[in-house]
Amino acid sequence: MTQFTDFGLAEPILRALAEEKYETPTPIQSQTIPTALAGRDVIGIAQTGTGKTAAFALPILHHLTTKRLRPEKKSCRVLVLSPTRELSGQISDSFRAYGRHIKPLAVALAIGGVPINRQVRSLAHGVEVLVATPGRLLDLVNQRAVTLNQVEVLVLDEADRMLDMGFIHDIKRVVAMLRKERQTLFFSATMPQEITKLADSMLNDPVRVAVTPQASTVDRIAQRVIHTEKSAKPALLIDVLKSETTDRVLVFTRTKHGADKVVKGLEKNGFLSAAIHGNKSQNQRERVLADFKSGKLRILIATDIAARGIDVDGVSHVINYDLPNVPESYVHRIGRTARAGADGIAISFCDQEEGVFLRDIERMIRITIPASGERQPHKPAVRNSGNRGQGGRPQQNGGGRNQGRGNGGGGGNGRPGQNGHRSHGGGNGGQNHGRPNHQAGHQNGHAQASRQDTSSGEPNDIGTVTFLQRSGEPRRNAGHRTR
Ligand code: AMP
Repeated sequence: MTQFTDFGLAEPILRALAEEKYETPTPIQSQTIPTALAGRDVIGIAQTGTGKTAAFALPILHHLTTKRLRPEKKSCRVLVLSPTRELSGQISDSFRAYGRHIKPLAVALAIGGVPINRQVRSLAHGVEVLVATPGRLLDLVNQRAVTLNQVEVLVLDEADRMLDMGFIHDIKRVVAMLRKERQTLFFSATMPQEITKLADSMLNDPVRVAVTPQASTVDRIAQRVIHTEKSAKPALLIDVLKSETTDRVLVFTRTKHGADKVVKGLEKNGFLSAAIHGNKSQNQRERVLADFKSGKLRILIATDIAARGIDVDGVSHVINYDLPNVPESYVHRIGRTARAGADGIAISFCDQEEGVFLRDIERMIRITIPASGERQPHKPAVRNSGNRGQGGRPQQNGGGRNQGRGNGGGGGNGRPGQNGHRSHGGGNGGQNHGRPNHQAGHQNGHAQASRQDTSSGEPNDIGTVTFLQRSGEPRRNAGHRTR
């Protein structure tokens, strides 16, 4: 097996990696690092959580140590574009961590939502690495705070998200300012046609590296849906929080207003939570995220956009308070809980209007999400909700943990087979009984299906992927699902 020492990385980098306790490169790292060190352009198809940041940061840092140049004033040698402030912050933190023994190494962060002046100052003397969101970068360019014609390496991270978020024109404008002789490292979780086109226009004879389709993340998560009346959702959330053993809970709402309402509702019932969304200041968002990461805050309410790029390990539960109308968002949301290699639990509340979203999601992930704990309105409920033909089931506890219901692959009745599968949200790997339990036969079918389904934009080459925890080793090879 490859070791980090096999790549020929400079000693200060290896020292930092040892301190970070990184022992074995992840699949995306094993594939990307030698290629990037050789100076080639790379298209990496990988999700966040696979170690892709180090996959591009390490060869870049090596390049900076071996080709020592003083950056010119108001310029950067490496430009990393990322779609969100949070992700950008994490990337710059990673460069600082892996590059902590490289001196000098100036890493600047240019993100919106915070005053620009400090960023202007940080670029005045030139920097080795600039990590930026596209909008703020262009503002800085327009203010002549930075010029981009010295960029030796460009990284485009989460290209598909960039596209979703409407950054495509900004990216094209930025790329037009760069010199042609540069190295470009391009990462995306999915490769729909538009992304392929964008990559073609930016890359020079790239080497393509890919790890796993998104589907395998889904397979590791115990998913269930609770059919409910809209009006019963606040009480249902309380029930779930009371009945589940949770470590960190990420609750998704569709709107910012909805997120704030959930926070208030929880507060009334004695649950401390906080929301992050676009209306919050950068400082507030950072504070809330730090509290969530440290465990001070156990319940975080987020909208899809705000949650992008959140890198928090140990999320035991994702609760979809509202179902997303874009099926891919569902995958991104629930993927937050499996990222540290642990299996996670994803519970979705589905009201009648959302039934159509649920169908779209199930079609995309090719899994029928088991239903449990159907929830009637708060009044005496004799009404048959009739949802999905399962009306009239006895009302169950939404959580249902530890009720000894089967968790095996049998089921097939749409009932919550996976309840109680994990005694504690922090359960550490290796517990096979903790696997999500959609019907066993389903998984192969799923893999098969996702291979055929090119329209979903998922990569077809199925590799393996290792999801990681921040300070540990690669913990689980999700590629075990299909061979
Ligand atoms: P990323 O996909 O870049 O967001 O990385 C996910 C997590 O994995 C981060 O918390 C990294 O610190 C961690 N990580 C990255 N590479 C390794 C490695 N080779 N060994 C252990 N942890 C790693």
